[in-house]
Amino acid sequence: MGDSVERLKQRLPLIEYLKRHNWSGRRTGCRPEFVGLCPLHRETRPSFYVNVAKNVFYCHGCGQGGDLIRFVELFRCLSFRQSVTHLEQELGSQVRDQSLSGMLAQAAAFYQLELHRYPEAMRYLEGRGLRHSGIIEELGIGYAPGGNLRRHLSCLGYSLDQLLKSGLISQQGRDVFIKRVIFPCTEHDSQVVNLYGRSIGAAFPHRLLPHSKGGLLAWKSIRHFSSLILVEGPFDVAVLWQAGFRNTTCALGTHLTSAQVAQLCERPGRRVYIAFDQDENQVGQQTARQLARLLESAALDVRIVQLPHGQDPNSYFLTRATAVDFAACLERSQRP
Ligand SMILES: [Zn+2]
Repeated sequence: MGDSVERLKQRLPLIEYLKRHNWSGRRTGCRPEFVGLCPLHRETRPSFYVNVAKNVFYCHGCGQGGDLIRFVELFRCLSFRQSVTHLEQELGSQVRDQSLSGMLAQAAAFYQLELHRYPEAMRYLEGRGLRHSGIIEELGIGYAPGGNLRRHLSCLGYSLDQLLKSGLISQQGRDVFIKRVIFPCTEHDSQVVNLYGRSIGAAFPHRLLPHSKGGLLAWKSIRHFSSLILVEGPFDVAVLWQAGFRNTTCALGTHLTSAQVAQLCERPGRRVYIAFDQDENQVGQQTARQLARLLESAALDVRIVQLPHGQDPNSYFLTRATAVDFAACLERSQRP
């Protein structure tokens, strides 16, 4: 038992387990140590320390401490033996997730290269007002022409069974993404967990694979901002980045998963501007108000941004609005 528990702790380090459950910490000085909010008791100032070298935790708030097994006992209210079983299952699912994530990352990289080989894809991006090649690169934007991914992934050694399970290939053996601009969706910093495809033709505009949509878009590069702009779609993010609003992200739609809400809450008191589509039927505005109330109850400082009638951030910039105009919209934003 002892040996296998030691092996388990080595294969699934405490910090990895915590990150998988949406805990985030910052490094303390030059020690191999991270500090963040305690998952075991409610607090607003971080007092939960994780020593990565010793693979242990200690909380100065509630006085709890120990190794991974001890953490799981407390966090999930399980016995020692139940905790070990839980962790063995967790490790199994992590191995499966990693092979899926590896394949999705390969597909995203392939689509990124394809983008520059298809003039219609670049024309589409230009039509949406996106020209900055650095931002296209940074967001990992690619293009799926359709009809060549299956061969590429098969050459990399993935079996047909794996391809079908990934959702990238249909039961009929064809590529699922055809004539779509692709954005990779990530989780735990940079692990690719899904791909979003925006049709550039007549097909239904939005398509995601049947997996979790992951965290907020490009979270790794914006999580340090104390004020964030939350928009609906990835093109809104891209054009706002291009206009200098680098603190913009989206949840791919108006619904935030609990993990995405937790990301916004990483910094207590953070200001969040919600800039959803200003549609005819007011759906965007209604969901913005509901979301605003939810975020306010989680101690965030929320503002609702009103764009001109019928606009979303992307179309607003296409109607020749400038960064100054958008900054004025932020300025005029209101508490829910
Ligand atoms: Zn605690």
